[in-house]
Amino acid sequence: MEVFLGLGGNVGDTAAAFRSAFRSLAAFLRDARISSFYRTRPRYLEDQPPFLNAVVIGRTFLGPRELLAAVQGVEAGHGRDRSREIRKGPRTLDIDILLYGDAVLDLPDLVVPHPGLPERLFALVPLLELAPGLVDPRTDRPFAELAAALPDQGIYLEGEAGL
Ligand code: AMP
Repeated sequence: MEVFLGLGGNVGDTAAAFRSAFRSLAAFLRDARISSFYRTRPRYLEDQPPFLNAVVIGRTFLGPRELLAAVQGVEAGHGRDRSREIRKGPRTLDIDILLYGDAVLDLPDLVVPHPGLPERLFALVPLLELAPGLVDPRTDRPFAELAAALPDQGIYLEGEAGL
């Protein structure tokens, strides 16, 4: 299954955390590729440092729940401690499952496509860099159309991932 993962963080050397996380993700993602890195304005809780965001694409044999457990293992391996965090607040490394093929899942602990995706340019912009023609399986609308309709959210290209 082709999957898209959203990476974010704003504590410590996030670019280094992304590179290291990408190596860990490659253990269960075939042909993994990562987008450029984007510096992004915090949403929801605005009084915190800017985030770095990127998207990873790859193919996996893991089921959706196994994939969630695997990405949470990678988060934990990069200093993520959910018990000490403020919701929507600063974090070292967050990994969301944005898309799991064209599956639409509404499980108690896993909602795919990620419910924030259609409104978050920090996820849509790097996603569209990797897959410009991608369509939202929930609405059948191209993500490019959804992104074009959103107001500016402060997304700045930081640089190539160099991977
Ligand atoms: P967060 O702390 O923002 O990373 O939220 C993580 C929680 O969201 C986890 O407990 C997951 O069970 C839940 N969750 C629901 N849907 C998703 C998704 N598509 N990707 C990652 N986590 C998800």
